[in-house]
Amino acid sequence: MSITTAEELFVDELKDIYSAEKQAIKAYPRITKAVSSEELKQALETHLDQTKGQLERLDRVFEILEKRSGGKTCEAMKGLLEEASESIEEVDEGPVLDVAIIAAAQRIEHYEMAAYGTVATLAEAMGQTEIHELLTQTLQEEKETDQLLTGVAEGVNSEALSANEEDEAEDDEAEQSKSRKTAKSKSK
Ligand code: FE
Ligand code: FE
Ligand code: FE
Repeated sequence: MSITTAEELFVDELKDIYSAEKQAIKAYPRITKAVSSEELKQALETHLDQTKGQLERLDRVFEILEKRSGGKTCEAMKGLLEEASESIEEVDEGPVLDVAIIAAAQRIEHYEMAAYGTVATLAEAMGQTEIHELLTQTLQEEKETDQLLTGVAEGVNSEALSANEEDEAEDDEAEQSKSRKTAKSKSK
Protein backbone atom coordinates (compact mmCIF):
# COMPACT_ATOMS: atom_id res chain seq x y z
CA MET A 1 0.00 0.00 0.00
CA SER A 2 1.41 3.36 -0.95
CA ILE A 3 0.83 6.35 1.28
CA THR A 4 0.06 9.60 -0.47
CA THR A 5 -1.68 11.88 2.04
CA ALA A 6 -0.81 13.16 5.49
CA GLU A 7 -4.00 11.53 6.80
CA GLU A 8 -2.86 8.14 5.51
CA LEU A 9 0.56 8.66 7.03
CA PHE A 10 -1.10 9.57 10.33
CA VAL A 11 -3.02 6.27 10.37
CA ASP A 12 0.14 4.38 9.42
CA GLU A 13 2.05 5.98 12.30
CA LEU A 14 -0.78 5.08 14.68
CA LYS A 15 -0.69 1.45 13.51
CA ASP A 16 3.02 1.40 14.23
CA ILE A 17 2.47 2.64 17.79
CA TYR A 18 -0.39 0.19 18.25
CA SER A 19 1.96 -2.64 17.36
CA ALA A 20 4.66 -1.20 19.64
CA GLU A 21 2.31 -1.08 22.65
CA LYS A 22 1.03 -4.60 22.01
CA GLN A 23 4.58 -5.95 21.85
CA ALA A 24 5.49 -4.11 25.06
CA ILE A 25 2.50 -5.54 26.93
CA LYS A 26 3.53 -9.03 25.87
CA ALA A 27 7.18 -8.58 26.88
CA TYR A 28 6.82 -6.67 30.14
CA PRO A 29 6.05 -9.61 32.46
CA ARG A 30 9.20 -11.46 31.38
CA ILE A 31 11.33 -8.35 31.86
CA THR A 32 9.78 -7.59 35.26
CA LYS A 33 10.46 -11.16 36.39
CA ALA A 34 14.19 -10.65 35.84
CA VAL A 35 14.30 -7.57 38.10
CA SER A 36 15.75 -7.66 41.63
CA SER A 37 15.00 -4.16 42.94
CA GLU A 38 11.53 -3.87 44.50
CA GLU A 39 11.33 -0.22 43.46
CA LEU A 40 12.11 -1.04 39.84
CA LYS A 41 9.70 -3.96 39.83
CA GLN A 42 6.98 -1.65 41.13
CA ALA A 43 7.71 1.00 38.50
CA LEU A 44 7.52 -1.56 35.68
CA GLU A 45 4.32 -3.13 36.99
CA THR A 46 2.68 0.28 37.24
CA HIS A 47 3.72 1.07 33.69
CA LEU A 48 2.40 -2.25 32.39
CA ASP A 49 -1.03 -1.29 33.76
CA GLN A 50 -0.70 2.16 32.19
CA THR A 51 0.30 0.60 28.88
CA LYS A 52 -2.88 -1.47 28.79
CA GLY A 53 -4.81 1.78 29.19
CA GLN A 54 -2.73 3.33 26.40
CA LEU A 55 -3.77 0.51 24.07
CA GLU A 56 -7.42 1.24 24.93
CA ARG A 57 -6.87 4.91 24.09
CA LEU A 58 -5.53 3.84 20.71
CA ASP A 59 -8.58 1.60 20.21
CA ARG A 60 -10.69 4.71 20.76
CA VAL A 61 -8.55 6.69 18.29
CA PHE A 62 -9.07 4.04 15.60
CA GLU A 63 -12.78 4.03 16.39
CA ILE A 64 -12.98 7.79 15.84
CA LEU A 65 -11.05 7.47 12.58
CA GLU A 66 -13.09 4.42 11.56
CA LYS A 67 -9.89 2.59 10.68
CA ARG A 68 -8.46 -0.79 11.59
CA SER A 69 -5.63 -0.91 14.11
CA GLY A 70 -3.82 -4.01 12.83
CA GLY A 71 -1.65 -4.86 9.90
CA LYS A 72 1.67 -3.35 10.87
CA THR A 73 4.66 -4.47 12.95
CA CYS A 74 6.80 -1.92 14.72
CA GLU A 75 10.28 -3.21 13.88
CA ALA A 76 11.94 -0.71 16.21
CA MET A 77 10.08 -1.97 19.28
CA LYS A 78 10.85 -5.52 18.19
CA GLY A 79 14.55 -4.61 18.16
CA LEU A 80 14.42 -2.77 21.49
CA LEU A 81 12.74 -5.76 23.13
CA GLU A 82 15.31 -8.09 21.59
CA GLU A 83 18.03 -6.00 23.20
CA ALA A 84 16.25 -6.27 26.55
CA SER A 85 16.11 -10.07 26.18
CA GLU A 86 19.79 -10.10 25.28
CA SER A 87 20.61 -8.30 28.54
CA ILE A 88 18.51 -10.74 30.54
CA GLU A 89 20.47 -13.61 29.00
CA GLU A 90 23.91 -12.08 29.26
CA VAL A 91 23.96 -10.12 32.53
CA ASP A 92 24.08 -11.75 35.97
CA GLU A 93 20.87 -11.29 37.91
CA GLY A 94 21.03 -8.57 40.56
CA PRO A 95 21.73 -4.85 40.58
CA VAL A 96 23.87 -4.95 37.43
CA LEU A 97 21.06 -6.55 35.43
CA ASP A 98 18.70 -3.96 36.94
CA VAL A 99 20.89 -1.21 35.48
CA ALA A 100 20.70 -2.92 32.07
CA ILE A 101 16.91 -3.28 32.33
CA ILE A 102 16.50 0.41 33.17
CA ALA A 103 18.65 1.24 30.15
CA ALA A 104 16.41 -0.90 27.94
CA ALA A 105 13.18 0.45 29.45
CA GLN A 106 14.26 4.05 28.99
CA ARG A 107 15.14 3.40 25.35
CA ILE A 108 11.60 2.10 24.92
CA GLU A 109 10.09 5.16 26.62
CA HIS A 110 12.10 7.53 24.45
CA TYR A 111 10.98 5.75 21.30
CA GLU A 112 7.37 6.04 22.45
CA MET A 113 7.83 9.70 23.36
CA ALA A 114 9.06 10.44 19.85
CA ALA A 115 6.22 8.46 18.27
CA TYR A 116 3.42 9.96 20.38
CA GLY A 117 4.89 13.44 20.03
CA THR A 118 4.62 13.15 16.25
CA VAL A 119 1.05 11.86 16.13
CA ALA A 120 -0.19 14.23 18.85
CA THR A 121 1.15 17.21 16.90
CA LEU A 122 -0.35 15.89 13.65
CA ALA A 123 -3.74 15.34 15.33
CA GLU A 124 -3.72 18.91 16.53
CA ALA A 125 -2.86 20.20 13.06
CA MET A 126 -5.72 18.11 11.64
CA GLY A 127 -8.17 19.60 14.10
CA GLN A 128 -8.76 16.19 15.71
CA THR A 129 -9.28 17.51 19.23
CA GLU A 130 -10.33 14.32 21.00
CA ILE A 131 -7.56 12.29 19.37
CA HIS A 132 -5.04 14.97 20.27
CA GLU A 133 -6.23 14.83 23.86
CA LEU A 134 -5.94 11.02 24.04
CA LEU A 135 -2.47 10.94 22.50
CA THR A 136 -1.24 13.75 24.74
CA GLN A 137 -2.35 11.86 27.85
CA THR A 138 -0.29 8.86 26.77
CA LEU A 139 2.68 11.03 25.81
CA GLN A 140 2.58 12.47 29.33
CA GLU A 141 2.60 8.97 30.88
CA GLU A 142 5.61 7.94 28.80
CA LYS A 143 7.48 11.07 29.91
CA GLU A 144 6.60 10.49 33.55
CA THR A 145 7.73 6.88 33.32
CA ASP A 146 11.04 7.97 31.83
CA GLN A 147 11.56 10.41 34.71
CA LEU A 148 10.51 7.82 37.27
CA LEU A 149 13.09 5.40 35.84
CA THR A 150 15.78 8.07 36.05
CA GLY A 151 14.94 8.38 39.75
CA VAL A 152 14.99 4.62 40.30
CA ALA A 153 18.36 4.43 38.50
CA GLU A 154 20.01 6.52 41.21
CA GLY A 155 19.56 3.85 43.86
CA VAL A 156 20.08 0.94 41.50
CA ASN A 157 23.28 2.38 40.00
CA SER A 158 24.93 2.96 43.36
CA GLU A 159 23.91 -0.51 44.50
CA ALA A 160 25.40 -2.04 41.36
CA LEU A 161 28.63 -0.09 41.86
CA SER A 162 28.94 -0.89 45.57
CA ALA A 163 28.26 -4.59 44.93
CA ASN A 164 31.35 -4.40 42.76
CA GLU A 165 33.34 -2.73 45.55
CA GLU A 166 32.29 -5.46 47.98
CA ASP A 167 33.52 -8.09 45.54
CA GLU A 168 36.83 -6.28 45.24
CA ALA A 169 37.14 -5.97 49.02
CA GLU A 170 36.57 -9.72 49.32
CA ASP A 171 39.15 -10.35 46.64
CA ASP A 172 41.64 -8.08 48.44
CA GLU A 173 41.07 -9.91 51.71
CA ALA A 174 41.56 -13.30 50.07
CA GLU A 175 44.69 -11.97 48.43
CA GLN A 176 46.08 -10.67 51.72
CA SER A 177 45.43 -13.87 53.67
CA LYS A 178 47.06 -15.82 50.87
CA SER A 179 50.19 -13.68 51.05
CA ARG A 180 50.22 -13.94 54.87
CA LYS A 181 50.17 -17.73 54.58
CA THR A 182 52.96 -17.63 52.03
CA ALA A 183 55.01 -15.38 54.32
CA LYS A 184 54.46 -17.79 57.23
CA SER A 185 55.48 -20.85 55.31
CA LYS A 186 58.57 -19.02 54.09
CA SER A 187 59.60 -18.06 57.63
CA LYS A 188 59.47 -21.70 58.74
FE1 FE B 1 3.32 3.07 25.86
FE1 FE C 1 7.93 1.77 14.96
FE1 FE D 1 5.81 3.26 27.77
